Amino acid sequence: MDYRVKLEGEGEKWLRLELVDVPLSLANAVRRLIINEVPTMAVEEVLVIENTSALTNEVLAHRISLIPFTTDLDNYVLPERCDCGSSLGCEKCSVRFSLRSMADKEVVSVYSSDLIRESGSEKVAPVSGDFQIVKLAPGQRVELELYVRLGKGKRHAKWQAGIATLYEEGGKRLLYVESFGQLPARRILLEAVKIFEESLAELSASLEKVVADGGGEG
Ligand SMILES: [Zn+2]
Repeated sequence: MDYRVKLEGEGEKWLRLELVDVPLSLANAVRRLIINEVPTMAVEEVLVIENTSALTNEVLAHRISLIPFTTDLDNYVLPERCDCGSSLGCEKCSVRFSLRSMADKEVVSVYSSDLIRESGSEKVAPVSGDFQIVKLAPGQRVELELYVRLGKGKRHAKWQAGIATLYEEGGKRLLYVESFGQLPARRILLEAVKIFEESLAELSASLEKVVADGGGEG
């Protein structure tokens, strides 16, 4: 094996690699891991305490769930790997936010910047404060509790870390990775490779067990 990878370019949210002599199957596996398996944070549960806006609870919860959050991978675990087993999570698998807004005499636009973190890591916040959530007419109000948790793009696109594409240009094979903002592009790539290694180690352990057991003879 004589695989080489060259960094062709990098920005805050993207990077481009040249893959030299890396088989397409391997490059494609990494690409798919980036899209499907690298976890990021998004709102998983919304508790509606009050909602007199024009939006139904379901529509309001859906809009909020599409807000990407900067992700703290070092201090949180995936809910399925947490021992709390709670649907709202614990301090190891969930960050709690609240949203309380009301319109008095004038129309009020509620944005992601109005979300308040009630507990958990300061690294976790909406990627941008500019996502409009709802417009409140005079007299309307919303009060919500939100639970932000890690998840994977294969379960729902709201957790997808970014895009990853493979293409050929001038005889070079290139991998382009662009983050949606939850994690730096470099971290996305490193996590994908880590997940790849873990998957291979798991596969290898199962194979060794089968071989040691005599391939099913006993
Ligand atoms: Zn937990």
